[in-house]
Order: sequence, then C-alpha cells, then structure tokens
Amino acid sequence: MLASAAGIGENHMHGILVAGSAVSLGMADRQASVLNDMDRFCDEALAEGSIYALLHRERDRLFPDEMFADLFSVKGRRSVPPSVVATVMVLQRLEGLSDREAVERYSFDVRWRYAAGVGSYDCGGWASFAHTVLVDFRARLAASSDPKRIFNVTVAAAGSAGLVGAKRVLDSTPLYDAVATMDTITLIRSAIRGLLKVADSVLETELRGLIGSGDDYASSAKPQIDWDDQAAREELIDSRARDGYAMLAHLDSQKLEAPVADAMKLLATVLGQDIEEGADGSFRIARRVAKDRVISTVDHEARHGHKTSARGFDGYKGSIAVDPDSEIITDTEVSAANAGDASVAADLIDDLIGSDHTGDGDSGDGDSGSKSDAPDLPGSAAKRTTKSKRTGGAKGARNSKGRRGGKVGAEIARTARAAARAANVRARRQRRRAGQTCPTVYGDAAYGSGGFLAHLAGAGIDNRCKTQPPVAPGGRYSKDQFYIDLDADTVTCPAGEEVSIRRNDSGDGIAYFEQACDTCPLRSDCTTAAGGRTVQVGRHEALLAEARAQAADPKWLDDYRATRPKVERKLAHLMRRRHGGRRARVRGRKKVGADFNLLAAAHNLARLAILGVRSDPGRTWATT
Ligand code: SF4
Repeated sequence: MLASAAGIGENHMHGILVAGSAVSLGMADRQASVLNDMDRFCDEALAEGSIYALLHRERDRLFPDEMFADLFSVKGRRSVPPSVVATVMVLQRLEGLSDREAVERYSFDVRWRYAAGVGSYDCGGWASFAHTVLVDFRARLAASSDPKRIFNVTVAAAGSAGLVGAKRVLDSTPLYDAVATMDTITLIRSAIRGLLKVADSVLETELRGLIGSGDDYASSAKPQIDWDDQAAREELIDSRARDGYAMLAHLDSQKLEAPVADAMKLLATVLGQDIEEGADGSFRIARRVAKDRVISTVDHEARHGHKTSARGFDGYKGSIAVDPDSEIITDTEVSAANAGDASVAADLIDDLIGSDHTGDGDSGDGDSGSKSDAPDLPGSAAKRTTKSKRTGGAKGARNSKGRRGGKVGAEIARTARAAARAANVRARRQRRRAGQTCPTVYGDAAYGSGGFLAHLAGAGIDNRCKTQPPVAPGGRYSKDQFYIDLDADTVTCPAGEEVSIRRNDSGDGIAYFEQACDTCPLRSDCTTAAGGRTVQVGRHEALLAEARAQAADPKWLDDYRATRPKVERKLAHLMRRRHGGRRARVRGRKKVGADFNLLAAAHNLARLAILGVRSDPGRTWATT
C-alpha cells in the first residue's frame, strides 16, 4: 500500500547513497501538512510542551532545507528534504532507535509525520524512505565544515530566548564501545588480517610468503589449540608475533599507500604494546599493561578507562557543559575512555571566553597547565600554600644542587604567576567595561587540575571546581603539612628541614629531603622511601592552594552543592536509552562524538519544548 503512496521512489534505492554521488537538495513541500486530518488530530491531541509540537511548529525555522544546501550537488537526483531527515534523526536519538526502527516510526507513527511536516499519506509528502538515507546524511554531515550544525541551532535558539547564561557545569560519563574487547592473540591476528586485506595482490603474496606459523589468517576465529596447555599457548603467541614482525620488517622503509601504512602502524602498535622478547629470544605476552593500550583493531580509538578506581569500562567518555539554570546543554565533547576529564574542559567552555583571552588552553590532568597564565586569584594565599604550622625553625635551605638546577624553572614559575595575575585582572576589567556577568564554571574534582584552574583564572572566569586535598599513603604527612614558600622557592617539612625546590624548565618542581630523613625521628610518620621524602610543587601550586581554601568556605560549598548535581541529572537523561545512549552504536571517536552531539541536540529540543520556547514573526525566540 505504501509503495503506491506519494513520495516513495527517488531516494528509496541504495545506489544513490554512495558518498560523493550526485544528489541535489530536495525541498520539503511546506503546504503538505496544511489542514489534513492527521495534523488536526495531532494539534488537539499533543501537549503544547511535547517535542512533536515544537518540531511541527518550529522545524522550518530550526533546520530549514537550505541550511544543508552545502551537503548536496547542484545536479542529480533530489534528496529526501534535509528538514525531514534532520527531524527523524533527532527523534531517533531521543528514543534510542536503530536506523530501520526510526524509518519505520516515521512511516507509521503520526506524531513523527506531524513533527516532520509531511502530513497524511495523501498529502504528497514523503511516505517513507530507505534507512540508508540516514546513513548517507550522517556521512555528508560528518564530512562537512559544520558537522555540529543541528546541535548549534538548538543552542542558538536557547541563547536567543535568554536561556543560556554565564554559568556552566561540566561532567562526563562512560560511553561503552560498539565492539568486543580483544585479547592479545586476537589483536595480533586481526591486525595481520587487516594488513593482508588492504595490500594489493603483489604485496599480499609477498607478505604471505613470510608467514611461518602456517596460519592462513583467513578466519577471525581463534586457532584451535589446547588452551589448557601452557606450551601450546606460548607457541601460538610466539609464532603469530614472528609473522607480524616479519611483515613489519619487510614493509620497513618501503613507500606505502596510506591504507597499508595505517594497517602497518596498527600492527606495530599491537605488537609493541602487548609483546616482549624473552631472554631465550621467544616472544611472549608482556607482563605489563601499556599506556594508552589499543583494545580492539575494529575500533582502534577505543580505550580502557575508569570512572572510579573500582569501575572500569571500555570505549569513550562523553563530556557535556550545561547551563544549570535552564539545563540546556551548551557543548559536548567525546574523548578516549582513558583521557582525563580536564583534557576537554577548555573546549567545553570556549563559548565563555572572549577573543581577548590570553590563556594557552592547557588543561590537562595533574598539575600541569599553562605556562603563561597561572594567576594568583584575588586575595590569594599564594605566598603561603599550606595551612600547617611549622614545627621547627628553618635551618636554612639545604640542597644547593637543587638551587643550581632550578633557577630557570623558578624564574619561569614566578614570571608565569605575575603574567597570569595580570591576565586575570585584565579579563575581569574588560568584562566589567562590557557590562558582562563574570562567568562561573562548576565541576567535580576531575576538573580541579592546575592547568584548568589556570585556564579559568587567565580568562577571568570564577572557579567552582573542587580540588582534591593532598593525601599521602598510610596516613603519613600529606603535602599540606609542609610549608611551601613560593617566593623563596623552598619547602620546609614538619621537622623544620628546609630545602630548595628543584624546578625543570617548565616551572614544575620537586623538593628532595634526602639525607635529612635518615635520622629524622618523624620518619615513620612521613615516608618509607629509602631515598627520603619528596614533595612535588607544580607551577600552579598557588592556584591549587587557593582553590582548596575557597572550597572550605561554607557559601562556596552551598553554591557548589546546589548547582553541580544538575549536570548529573542531565547525563542520566542522555543515558536513559541504552542503544546510542550508554552503548555507542558506531565506531571511532569522530562518529561517536557526532552521535553524542546529536543526542544532546535532541535533548535540548525536548527541553526547549518543555520551556515553551517559540519563534515570533520578528524571527527571534522567546519563552511563553
Ligand atoms: S622524614 Fe624527612 S621530610 Fe619527613 S619530617 Fe623527617 S626530615 Fe622532614
């Protein structure tokens, strides 16, 4: 019955969906849904605050067909109107459906048709289309200069309606990968199979000639051996590793096509991370876990990560920035599962930072960060970064070796503090002149790294990110029980020993107490290290100390507790559907990132509907 309905045809065939094939922009018939039974029914039956009503009312304003004109050729068969496809993609992400399920819903659910503006089946709108249209559209969008355009439209509408203020709350959530995590033998065999697959027939023959294991690498199934036999397992690893190394040696210094070079690189990575050579010359599984270990050759960007020390996962991390008042998501990022949350934090808040910002954007984990913008916050406790009382008088700085080695680094740290203090003051003054509210960023302790704090301070942004208090194993003296004098660049321990900080050229440093600890009566409460206690003093030490002091203020804490949890509720909404929510449905960071961004767009539209946002004839947005 549907086959004869209007609209089926032009894009129902898979042949036109080859990337780069000639497809011209299809335009929606804007009269298609006027005054038909289906629309009349939906007008009455659907709540004003439903996303279907919002899309029906505002679709042509949110994402008109012309907005996607750059994705299509001037000539060629007409596409399904992009406004229709975008509507289906948004609803698909909101409901966690596969492409086939989404097209089925579009074909048979009147709410979807109402939202897409195609009206009844006799109105001349698109009755249905092939699910591959969604695949093709996603690919075109991803390859375009503005792949986030659907999401950006939702943020722009919210901003125009006055729903995006100067506060942001940041958080991340695990996104499980769409592939199986591979063990070492599967990784090696899969990488070799991948290499053989992309090699041309001549190269494949050469590579196959190097195989000494007898494995034809035709099947992805594991070789049949007695897995309880350790010798058989060891022989399996050794023989496949030798095959791999023989191929790498053959390809080394050859000029290779890009796919072969990529496959060779992946094989080298897999062998390098998981295999080591024993004393007898045999290859075996390395007794260590490589940093940034590849866990699958099918999705080689997925990583093993931890949300907490007890909870690991494989895949990616999805991070969002949310306006805590309207609960609109203002940006999204996807990183590998093992990346620190702070590594994408600067990107999440770049809309808060004017072009006058002079920060360098280094917001990595740990105590690393900006060289140029490491300001002391107003009212800073920079000069005294510990709260502890000294238990003895300073005996004069020991460790002259440290002083000699650290002069340049100490000067860098001092200069950075002064320059960044000036940047912070400048940014705040410029905001005041422009009548702008000072932005505020909230985040848990994952965002309280020195680098990110420096980034915020350099941009004149108020920090509401928690910073972990220093801890020492076994309840021994923690760092805040040492007196750190940043002007003198020295550290004094609870026993009163004072040493110079040895700084590297980046300005990060370590205080070594060395022989002073040998006879110290407090040693058992301080360190078990044979070489004596060390204290790390990063270039952002003053900022970290200030952040810890701020977090002890009850007012700061009340604001933090009232605001930050809102992002967790938003993440829970995003993860409500498993398919395309917690579990990625595509492979690779770029695709997972695009999917996550579209999910955020769908939830923003649902939020705009609830908040009663609508456009007016003057083409602005407002809440009703
Ligand atoms: S063990 Fe070393 S660092 Fe610790 S209190 Fe004694 S002298 Fe100071």
